[in-house]
Amino acid sequence: MSFARARRATRTVGFRLTVWSSSFFVIGSLALFGLAYVVVSSSLRQRDDEIILHESAELEAQYGLGGVPMLAQQLEHQERLGTSEPFLVRIVARDGTVLFLGTPERWREFQLDHLSSAGQSETENGWISLQARRGDKVVDVKSTRMPDGALLQVGKTTEDRAAIMQRFRAAATGITVAVLVIGFGGGLLLTVWALRPLRQIIDTVRAIDAGALSARVPRRQTGDELDELGGLFNGMLDRIATLITGMRGALDTVAHDLRTPIARLRSVAELALRSDQRPETLQQALADCIEESDQLLTMLNTLMDISEAETGTLKLALEPVNVASIVEAAVDLYRHVAEDKRIVVSTAADPALWLMADRSRMRQVLANLIDNAIKYTPMSGRVDVEAVLAQNMAVISVRDTGIGVMAHEVPRIWDRLYRGAHSRSERGLGLGLSLVRAIVMAHGGRIDVSNAPGGGAIFTIQLPVSSSASVPEETVPIAAD
Ligand code: ADP
Repeated sequence: MSFARARRATRTVGFRLTVWSSSFFVIGSLALFGLAYVVVSSSLRQRDDEIILHESAELEAQYGLGGVPMLAQQLEHQERLGTSEPFLVRIVARDGTVLFLGTPERWREFQLDHLSSAGQSETENGWISLQARRGDKVVDVKSTRMPDGALLQVGKTTEDRAAIMQRFRAAATGITVAVLVIGFGGGLLLTVWALRPLRQIIDTVRAIDAGALSARVPRRQTGDELDELGGLFNGMLDRIATLITGMRGALDTVAHDLRTPIARLRSVAELALRSDQRPETLQQALADCIEESDQLLTMLNTLMDISEAETGTLKLALEPVNVASIVEAAVDLYRHVAEDKRIVVSTAADPALWLMADRSRMRQVLANLIDNAIKYTPMSGRVDVEAVLAQNMAVISVRDTGIGVMAHEVPRIWDRLYRGAHSRSERGLGLGLSLVRAIVMAHGGRIDVSNAPGGGAIFTIQLPVSSSASVPEETVPIAAD
């Protein structure tokens, strides 16, 4: 691994997590060992001190009973029985004369002179540690002043204790090495395992960046947060893909649909130029051009309105709107067209139904739905427009007795520039329902389509009735039919 790669690796979250988690683990384990060492060592020391004190009390009692001979006898007895390890026992008279020193050859290696040279007051009822002349052996000695003024000194080597602590240290060293290996190795494994989903997300983003737009994060179905993140990420990618496909499709259709009117516009102008160029012919051609351009403009404006409504940038002039009045106004617009096709248009709108809405946009919505209903209903049919209040929602439905919407077309009729298979013979741009839906959604509502049992389509709009949309005092709602 090159130096630069090693440096980059040390900057990764994985590396830092490994170092931090294993450091905490290792430091924690070492602290526990340290504590255990101190506790064991001090309790061993305490136990040794208690043994010395016990022995000292026993010997003092023997000395009290029969002086040095009795004490020597007791020691001999103990040695014979081998019940306890040998003690250093020394009795010093008040004048400093050593009255007794048990098995001096055993203690020769220790600096016994230090015992006698130590000031009496210093050793009185106190403890002293004697070092061996060579090596690291130690004897702990307790000095006790007895009633006759003599000083009783009882000591015991710390060899047992030192051996136990030595074994403890050896075991601790071995365990520490194991803790280090487990700590760092385990930390590394854990971090790699925990960060694997993140790595997969990074790999997916890299793949997408490199052009593989269909790349997705592999799911582990564990239900944990990172798996959820992967799921959300995939969902987001799917939505973006759908949007991009939709936008591409819309752009293709717009380009395609603009071509025809522009070509028509051009040919009208071209034909006029090639014609006899009489003023009436040219005038007619100009009128045709204006009509074509108007259609183009309508199409472009509608497309922009839809985009604005969908992206939430369409400005809505919200005001209290009486639903019955806009229903009537919209129906009035199409009365003549309906009469031409001998279609009966009936309205049944609750006159007390008010909405906070953009009046002209809502009129546009109703006009589009009524226009479609009449357009897609054969001669002598019916169109019923209803508006009622249901569960605090204004429910407006436009029902016709026409061709209805085929099941497979239902999801597509809301797409921009989509025109049903049976509607090509009718005038239209395929933008009406897209605009209707975008406006309804911009008002916080929804629109659905279903087929009427006896044939024909039912478009149903549901709009929330805002509490602020109360009846203005001076407004008299227009009565419905
Ligand atoms: P256009 O009417 O200009 O074709 P729309 O966006 O208004 O475009 O409608 C899209 C399609 O939905 C229509 O082409 C038609 O197939 C279908 N559609 C709309 N309204 C009705 C209706 N009332 N009955 C049957 N089909 C309809």
